[in-house]
Amino acid sequence: MSSKRYLITPGPTPIPPVVAAAAATPMQHHRSPEFRALLLETLDRLKQVFATENDLVLFTGSGTAAMESSVANLLSPGDRVVVASAGNFGQRWVKLVRAYGIEPVLVEQPWGERLDAARIAGAASEAETAAVVVTHSETSTGVVHDVEAIAAAVAPTGAILVVDAVSSLGGVELATDAWGVDVVVSGSQKALMSPPGLAFASVSERAWGRAGRSTLPRYYLDWRLAADSQVKGDTAFTPAVSIVVALRTALDLILARGPASVWEHNRLLARATRAGVKGLGLELFSPDDDSAAMVTALLMPDGIDGQECYTVLRDRHGIVLAGGHGPLRGRIMRIGHMGYMNEFDIVTALAGLEMALGELGHTPPVPGGGVAAATALFAAQPVPVDG
Ligand SMILES: *Cc1c(COP(=O)(O)O)cnc(C)c1O
Repeated sequence: MSSKRYLITPGPTPIPPVVAAAAATPMQHHRSPEFRALLLETLDRLKQVFATENDLVLFTGSGTAAMESSVANLLSPGDRVVVASAGNFGQRWVKLVRAYGIEPVLVEQPWGERLDAARIAGAASEAETAAVVVTHSETSTGVVHDVEAIAAAVAPTGAILVVDAVSSLGGVELATDAWGVDVVVSGSQKALMSPPGLAFASVSERAWGRAGRSTLPRYYLDWRLAADSQVKGDTAFTPAVSIVVALRTALDLILARGPASVWEHNRLLARATRAGVKGLGLELFSPDDDSAAMVTALLMPDGIDGQECYTVLRDRHGIVLAGGHGPLRGRIMRIGHMGYMNEFDIVTALAGLEMALGELGHTPPVPGGGVAAATALFAAQPVPVDG
């Protein structure tokens, strides 16, 4: 067993050494002037990454806390809510809405397909639809749904649009205000290359209006409580101070580089990953185009169990990829290429995959064919330095 670990997953993702160092600085009091200033700066930078001027509330919790906050703050018993789902994270919304006693109207696509904006708008246009909930990057399948098209289709219905951008924010374009997305939820541990533990929700004026009328119970995840404290650089409860410090550093790196340049970097890593998967003689499960910039999912060859491959990679080689969720368990493997990753993460994942498959009895058609295809692509389209 290798003691060296290579984390090439869609979250949590590796964090840059300066971000880790920031997290390890001496503890500060959360009601000190220094921390208040730091929190306000962090929120300001986050809003730039969210591409919004809406309020942005921060919670200590994983990304699901921000998802849950949307349900608890926006809805009332008996509300009509449309949940569009084509994967594991879409299903999480279904469970969450049901946990609050509301039966959602489902607009489903098979796992691995794209959500259909026209079908979603059709469901949303029925009278009294309070909200429409969609996933941006469906991490379980690698599909990045077309939120711009969905937002445009839903807008005439007047329903509040909520988008789960936990694994997309900062990694692919999400123009919150320009596209008219009311609520965007995200978390610290994916494309934002920070430790897990912070969750965020951006809230439009319209969403505040609905939140003011909503009657579902909430306390820790109350948007109003959070926002009223935050305007003063305060938090209602003790935040994960160290993660705020780390996130502030990570956001500075992202903004210094420029969001568009980060998106391009992810697209390039994804392109090389797809080339490498084909070079290994394997089939892609995620879409074979630039939209799938965050996660590449590949189908296991016949007779090979994806979970076994995952375990061999992890325990023998120290390479942590991700397996499949739900019906895809054992059938696919997923390679994350978001956040603090570069071409050698991709090369490592492909080389490891070839070795692990070989150990399980599956030999790719061309030895080293995955790595060769990826490095050829990198040679033709170099990753910018500082990748
Ligand atoms: C990671 C992720 C989440 C949140 O998961 P947590 O474990 O609660 O942080 C939600 N949605 C998507 C699409 C994700 O990838």
